[in-house]
Amino acid sequence: MQIIHVAAECYPAAKVGGLGDVVGALGKYLNLAGHRGCVILPKYQTQYINRNSWKKIFTSTAALGIGDFEYSIYANENQVLGYELFLVDIKGLLDREKVYGYEDDNTRFIAFQTAALDWLVKSEQKPDIINVHDHHAALIPFMMQNVEAFSSLKNIPVVLTIHNGQYQGAMEWNNNVVLPQWDAWKWGLLDWNNYINPLASGIRCAAKVTTVSDGYLHELRYQSNGLEKLFEMEWAKCSGILNGIDTLVWNPETDAALTQKYGARENMHQKSKNKKTLCEQFNLNFDKPLFVFIGRLVGEKAADLLPQSILNSFHKIGRKMNFLVLGSGETEVENDLNYLKLFSENDYNTYIGYNEDLSHLMYAGADFILMPSRVEPCGLNQLYAMRYGTVPVVNNTGGLHDTIIDISEKNGYGIKMNQASENELIFGIFRALELYADPAKFEAIKIQLMQLDFSWDKSINNYIRLYESLTLKN
Ligand code: ADP
Repeated sequence: MQIIHVAAECYPAAKVGGLGDVVGALGKYLNLAGHRGCVILPKYQTQYINRNSWKKIFTSTAALGIGDFEYSIYANENQVLGYELFLVDIKGLLDREKVYGYEDDNTRFIAFQTAALDWLVKSEQKPDIINVHDHHAALIPFMMQNVEAFSSLKNIPVVLTIHNGQYQGAMEWNNNVVLPQWDAWKWGLLDWNNYINPLASGIRCAAKVTTVSDGYLHELRYQSNGLEKLFEMEWAKCSGILNGIDTLVWNPETDAALTQKYGARENMHQKSKNKKTLCEQFNLNFDKPLFVFIGRLVGEKAADLLPQSILNSFHKIGRKMNFLVLGSGETEVENDLNYLKLFSENDYNTYIGYNEDLSHLMYAGADFILMPSRVEPCGLNQLYAMRYGTVPVVNNTGGLHDTIIDISEKNGYGIKMNQASENELIFGIFRALELYADPAKFEAIKIQLMQLDFSWDKSINNYIRLYESLTLKN
């Protein structure tokens, strides 16, 4: 089968969060499984895209409601990625440094989707399946069915994968003039609560809808930022497929970002050399357990709980541990985390920003990773942490609920909080310290964690089965 993924992120070309990791891995692991997995991504001005060479394979013009625009398609010249990556270049719209965060994001992503479909029509590339990801690509199934220019793609089944249902791309109706000319009778397929809502439209028009864990799918039915009714109506075509991790990238035995590589069977004790590097670099105490947080500093991740919880855990439990936070996001949280440095006694530090190599070193060097998330569609951090023998302390929600078994249960290997609150987080830290104080148990759990299999080798088959169910019907 040929499966084309259309998304706003794809690692390593453009990554902001988990979406990028997953789309890149899907392309790669579909090829490893004997299929042709390709990805279509905007040609941003990211470091990776600028540093690598791309071959222009197609140029044309496509029509938006506001006029024609020129676009080009570029392809990767070498096979390093393990899948074909096609970049859509639209001068003045997509060729920017950041992936998101511009005032004209609506126009940018509508143009991106239009160019992608226009190319598929004109180049006569006819994939067996198109898998679109999140709201930035979710207008594609609507456009394939209701834009005359794309009618030759009408019969290709489309899967919509929701990585984050909180962001829906909703826009005022006056934006409809940007869309390529569409069948106006079908306005109801675009509308949700008097807005054009791309995610809602995708849920209605796609042949199948997947979310990145089963637990998250069930949460969306009751809490999905206004789409609850829609999930109820379209429930029969929805399913949860747990993300995997790319074990070719995330492997402590080969990871070039580590000070010291290590494995579960051999030289596990060397893991601590990575902790040593972190402690030296960030002025922390090597003899105390190290808790880390890595991620977007936003409400979904409950990052706002961190400053006060860290301070109060020092007060309530004592200065028995270190904390290191890596992330960027809401200014207030960033400021509070920076301010907290004033109270450090060589046991707290923070790095505000995005740093891929540092994140790898932290997954390896930490003893515990904190994920107090309010919402976690799948969560990759806990999966990476476990692969590196780092114990997860997580809120019991979404994908965290699905992937972590509490140490109080049979064969448990993580620590679960009952809600995203300061008290629960401090209690989670307290329980982690109890575990740390029992070296034999702590070591055994670390080895158990490293041997768990959350790889794409396993998860990719669920996607393939879904694609097959759609192509067999045609
Ligand atoms: P989300 O996509 O909701 O942000 P995920 O857990 O699915 O959360 O994925 C987060 C990904 O982004 C992980 O690969 C994590 O390591 C990475 N990441 C998040 N913030 C940073 C950061 N500041 N520096 C480096 N990597 C980061």
